[in-house]
Amino acid sequence: MAATVLVTGGLGYVGSHCCVALAHAGYEPVVLDNLSNARESVLERLRELTGAAIELHRADVRDAGALDRALANRPIEAVAHFAGLKSVRESVERPLDYFDNNVNGTARLLEAMARHGVRRMLFSSSATVYGVPQRLPYTEDHPLEPVNPYGCGKLAIERMLERAAAANPDFHYAALRYFNPVGAHPSGRIGEDPRGVPENLLPYVAQVASGQRPTLRVFGKDYDTPDGTGVRDYLHVMDLAEAHVAALRFLEREHRSIAVNLGTGRGHSVLEVVKAFEAASGRPVPIEFAPRRAGDLPEYWADATLAAQELGWRAARGLEEMCRDAWRWQSQNPDGYV
Ligand code: NAD
Ligand code: UDP
Repeated sequence: MAATVLVTGGLGYVGSHCCVALAHAGYEPVVLDNLSNARESVLERLRELTGAAIELHRADVRDAGALDRALANRPIEAVAHFAGLKSVRESVERPLDYFDNNVNGTARLLEAMARHGVRRMLFSSSATVYGVPQRLPYTEDHPLEPVNPYGCGKLAIERMLERAAAANPDFHYAALRYFNPVGAHPSGRIGEDPRGVPENLLPYVAQVASGQRPTLRVFGKDYDTPDGTGVRDYLHVMDLAEAHVAALRFLEREHRSIAVNLGTGRGHSVLEVVKAFEAASGRPVPIEFAPRRAGDLPEYWADATLAAQELGWRAARGLEEMCRDAWRWQSQNPDGYV
């Protein structure tokens, strides 16, 4: 019988792709999502892609009763915990909502896991835990000094996991520090569907290429980077999803916890992304330069060595494939999920 993984936030961007990768690897994903940033129609697409009757608990991770119902029916191999709010900008405006949803949500989830004897967690952490780079690439032992409430919450959760694991030798976690996930499943059936005006680069570029928005505003042209625009480590979301399977196998095999970067190990500038997207889509992406965005770091990318050593995982897909798959999703679903 397939081992069951509870996927919180499983209807969201990264969680949905992870459900596909888990199912592909022989696990049975069960989703818990409050639909605060997702559409229920994602579920049908997941069922179609996996051929599995994926179960949905429409519930909040802070709801102990709902967690009990989701965890009680059968043995749960692990929880993959994606549920959370993710906008750095919004976290500055509404820090308490972010701490409540993300930090308290994780505390409630860990309590429920303890009640039901669930011993493994994959946690969606972020490169924002590092803060201003003291050296690049970021290695996992770089100082952890996040500069915004979103990042502070992610670090608080990592600390909570560390202490929970120290207190319970049977509990192990993987804190997965994502860099910049982009792209979509190659089928074009699932992808990133931001509400309103996209804040992130790739979905914005995709909407410009499709003609839904006139120009991309490039935030900053005088950074100390090769072409003056910001540099990030963009990572294909399917590579990221597969890394979760590798991390789960690590926990099953090694019986110890880990905090690890998930990135490709190389950075691309905004202008490089624009060029790659134009090539992948065959469409122009007009740009205009705008002032730097408040809070943006000039550049950062991952040292991806530890993930290769410990998880046996390396990103396999390059920028071209990220753009191609993002474009397929965009052109097949111009209005996102409907
Ligand atoms: P997303 O918003 O698409 O997915 C999050 C999902 O969680 C949504 O379906 C939402 O409805 C659900 N959710 C939110 N709060 C909930 C709650 N209290 N109870 C139940 N469900 C809840 O975001 P994503 O891009 O898929 O990100 C997933 C995780 O990865 C988040 O924790 C995010 O902080 C982290 N992360 C994302 C990125 C990125 O660039 N996408 C980078 C680093 C880390
Ligand atoms: N960016 C941009 N225009 C946009 C959105 C983003 O120039 O409309 C730049 C941003 O300044 C950064 C890079 O693209 O250098 C990635 O930004 P994103 O918001 O996707 O990721 P994050 O800043 O969280 O790493």
